[in-house]
Amino acid sequence: MTTFDGMPSMLSVEEAQEKIMSMFAPLEPEPKPILESIGQVLAEDITSDINIPPLDNSSMDGYAIRYEDVLHASLNEPINLRLIGHIAAGQLPNQEVAPGTAIRIMTGAPIPDGANAVVPFEDTDEFDNRANGISVENMDSVEVRVSLTEGTNIRPKGQDIVQGQLVLTKGSVIRPAEVGVLASLGRNTVNVIRKPIIAVISTGDELLEPGEPITPGKIYNSNSYSVCSSILVYGGIPKFLGIARDSLESLNTKLEEALSADLIITTAGVSRGDFDIVKDLLAKRGKITFWTVRMRPAKPLAFGIFPRANGENVPHIGLPGNPVSTLVAFEELVRPAILTMVGKQNIQKSVVNAILVGDIVNYDERRVYARVTVTKKNHAYYATLTGDQGSGILTSMARANGLAICPEDIPIMKSGETVEVQMLDWPEGITGDF
Ligand code: AMP
Ligand code: MG
Repeated sequence: MTTFDGMPSMLSVEEAQEKIMSMFAPLEPEPKPILESIGQVLAEDITSDINIPPLDNSSMDGYAIRYEDVLHASLNEPINLRLIGHIAAGQLPNQEVAPGTAIRIMTGAPIPDGANAVVPFEDTDEFDNRANGISVENMDSVEVRVSLTEGTNIRPKGQDIVQGQLVLTKGSVIRPAEVGVLASLGRNTVNVIRKPIIAVISTGDELLEPGEPITPGKIYNSNSYSVCSSILVYGGIPKFLGIARDSLESLNTKLEEALSADLIITTAGVSRGDFDIVKDLLAKRGKITFWTVRMRPAKPLAFGIFPRANGENVPHIGLPGNPVSTLVAFEELVRPAILTMVGKQNIQKSVVNAILVGDIVNYDERRVYARVTVTKKNHAYYATLTGDQGSGILTSMARANGLAICPEDIPIMKSGETVEVQMLDWPEGITGDF
């Protein structure tokens, strides 16, 4: 690795990933209300203080009975039982089912003593009685039209979770089902790995913010927005700091605001033709090196650290300015850092092998990440190039759902060849706000 004023060294994608990853580890745990924990990683093992369900209970609306009483019941030879009471969900039974009797019971209600099966309404005269205008209060017997085995329609206590059981393990990702499990255990908060705060600064004198009137020679800042959105997608909290002009003063001011973050991302100003002032400042205030990475798009990259007043260091990744390069570099080099900070263990992208539609030309021995649309036809995946692959063609990224990879040592991949495609899917989900 050379410094900014030497020739940048050319790293493989893996070398760059490795150097960046060596700066990151999972962040500390924080307690969160369960409804705000979605997508985060559990920082504690969850064991249950209770049985779920807490008591044997009915899985049907019907009648709690003794199965021995209806051993020979059938539609043609039904058996009558005396109705002695009712239990709704949330009530506790206060009567016992003695031989020859039944208690009307609702789904989820606890099974009364003495009962060992529940016969559902549809296997009794319940609906005939109702059709004949007999109110529930006036029902004094029930006709059972089927035989049952012991335990029918009874959900036993602890069937899902037994008191003391390890239910969710540290390191697992909280999805809607996990939120539900936590709630069912009576937990309203949970310890999760906190989300990293990631400061985002776009640099460039040519940039305007969306919403401003367009003026000659200027372009809209798209990088801040695509980068902040990518941070959200992978579970970080973006700190949107807007545009730094290509001046020492402007970048210095923005950096002050960025130093409290867990990671600083800048865009642009890392290629060789750039204003030295950006590089000067980065090198003066921190330990920054400029690399070239053997990939296309996104060859130029800055990486380093800035010291805080308290002596701690903040890592910095300087993404290239071209909008596609920014996003591809983010996917390959920033995404793994974020997923590591949020505590994710499986950080590999999903990959499919697809039949290439169109040629990928690799004229300078870099790893090419070509934007493609992956579709499935007749049990095969096809990866169709999304048009002009220039690093300024942001719509080629917007149309893509995958990045097809042409290895460094292959000068051309022809239409019809099999290509590996990294899918641009976001299983981590989109949560949080700016
Ligand atoms: P630079 O790295 O500063 O030479 O920028 C490379 C290219 O990316 C130039 O065409 C810039 O105008 C463009 N660019 C830089 N920053 C942004 C941004 N925030 N949004 C959109 N395009 C940008
Ligand atoms: Mg620039």
